[in-house]
Amino acid sequence: MRFLVDLHTHTVASDHAYSTIMDYFNYAADIGVQMFACTDHGPAVADAPHKWHFGNLGVVPHIVNNVAMLRGAEANITAAGGLDLEDYILQRLDIVLAGFHPNYTPTTREEHTALMIEVIKSGRVDVIAHPGNPNYPIDYEAVLVCAKENNVAIEINSSSSINTRLGSHRNCVEVARLAKKIGNTISLGTDSHFVTYLANFEESIKVIEEAGMGYDQVLNTSPAKVLDFLESRGHAPIESLRSFFTPYP
Ligand SMILES: [Zn+2]
Ligand SMILES: [Zn+2]
Repeated sequence: MRFLVDLHTHTVASDHAYSTIMDYFNYAADIGVQMFACTDHGPAVADAPHKWHFGNLGVVPHIVNNVAMLRGAEANITAAGGLDLEDYILQRLDIVLAGFHPNYTPTTREEHTALMIEVIKSGRVDVIAHPGNPNYPIDYEAVLVCAKENNVAIEINSSSSINTRLGSHRNCVEVARLAKKIGNTISLGTDSHFVTYLANFEESIKVIEEAGMGYDQVLNTSPAKVLDFLESRGHAPIESLRSFFTPYP
């Protein structure tokens, strides 16, 4: 299976990541990746950029070196059940991921589930990032059913068992099994913190195969599928990317 899109990457804007946006454009062109989402951490965690980083992402062209980039964020779910970026900033972005990070100290499975459901229902998030994170247990079925009802994608994160969040693999397989049953839209992200991890979906593929999920539900097989999904979420069509990825009749 070939994935042409990576929907979760970090750049030097997050202090613990080590590549620039331009590194991603160039590397993607080298390895044949057609699109990536630039999704640095929302401002509530210590290593994150200032919110102006997200507000000003519009200065970065959608296409450089024949590779497409989505202007995005990985927002943090807060203890109040919201996100750490204001609406006027979220509205400027092409894609918003959200997940639990150290800005919120884990409490109970019930509370984590309730916060995640609140965020899904708010309409402000397109993708739930790394739901299999063992540090923040949730009721997978409740979250996935709610995500399906609200047309929010569920991420299978490719770095979950490699660099961080050790112990995620079994959880991710459980999420994928449920996602198959419920029919969730699946977003794959490498969560790359250095450019050479871009589009390395080895771990995600293991999870998908083990769960017997197949690839129909996965957005990353084509840039057009990603753009369709984002428009179905209410984002304005990105005309430059639409024409870039639509072959001449
Ligand atoms: Zn994350
Ligand atoms: Zn991330």
